[in-house]
Amino acid sequence: MKAVIVGAGTMGQGIAEVGLSAGWEIHLVDVDQEILQAARSAIMRRLARRPADREPASQPSIDTLCLGTDLRTACLRADVVIETASEDLAVKVGILTAAAEATTSDAILATNTSALSVTEMGAASGAPHRLVGLHFFNPVPRMRLVEVIRGLETSEAVVERAANFCLELGKDPVILNDSPAFVASRVNALIGNEAFTMLQEGVASAEDIDKALRLGLNHPMGPFELGDLVGWDVRYKVLQHLHVTLGDRFRPNPLMVKYVQAGRLGRKTGRGVYEYPAIDSKG
Ligand code: NAD
Repeated sequence: MKAVIVGAGTMGQGIAEVGLSAGWEIHLVDVDQEILQAARSAIMRRLARRPADREPASQPSIDTLCLGTDLRTACLRADVVIETASEDLAVKVGILTAAAEATTSDAILATNTSALSVTEMGAASGAPHRLVGLHFFNPVPRMRLVEVIRGLETSEAVVERAANFCLELGKDPVILNDSPAFVASRVNALIGNEAFTMLQEGVASAEDIDKALRLGLNHPMGPFELGDLVGWDVRYKVLQHLHVTLGDRFRPNPLMVKYVQAGRLGRKTGRGVYEYPAIDSKG
């Protein structure tokens, strides 16, 4: 099984890690070698930290990880290409169009978009039947769900194979029809936005709003803890998209917008709703 992962950031690294653990051959592609080498080191560190509860033969191996900046070369003999590049329609369509041209017609093309339209990307890339959404969650090795998104023209065979890939990776897929931000992120965007509205209104402190959702609704993390982990810039883009596509109930909260403008994006910048003074840049 050969998978090409395009974009070696947070999500690309996570999917590469679970792919290697499943015994897949992984080709990781990004725009420069420095990003790729940093991604390789991070993946190696995480694989080394895994509990040694496996047979030696089933230990994930870093030897089946290849790095490169040339997407077309990486796509040779690929069974699946998963794009995990920045949340930008033009960037994603560029990658998917090149991948469609460089792969055989039985290769699956997948996007890990958080909110963009799988149907639109399918049409723009010229391969609508074999493009499917594979929405993994962060951190990928720990989160069981993958939303498998059927675009308007995605073939059923592709949807089924994509769901089977998820099972091979030890994930639990849910198949759904293309819709802005899909299911989990759409609900979550509203929760995070409402939490910011309550913070702005002075209803409670961030700590207490988080505590109320953890203890009262059994959420494993409060909305501010989770937003700090995901990044408020990512959350803001999702809300902007939902606002445009689904209406006013998704209007981004102005205090959240200010946090983004101030660079208080969360853990990755050392400061979001909470402070992370001793941030470990090596992840
Ligand atoms: P990231 O910024 O950590 O990584 C994106 C990577 O893509 C970068 O390394 C960048 O150099 C690379 N890239 C950009 N353009 C490229 C190109 N043309 N070719 C190759 N590589 C390119 O982003 P991320 O957080 O990993 O998110 C990636 C995607 O996954 C986005 O669409 C995001 O919405 C989605 N997503 C993110 C999360 C999350 O919690 N971070 C969760 C689910 C889905």
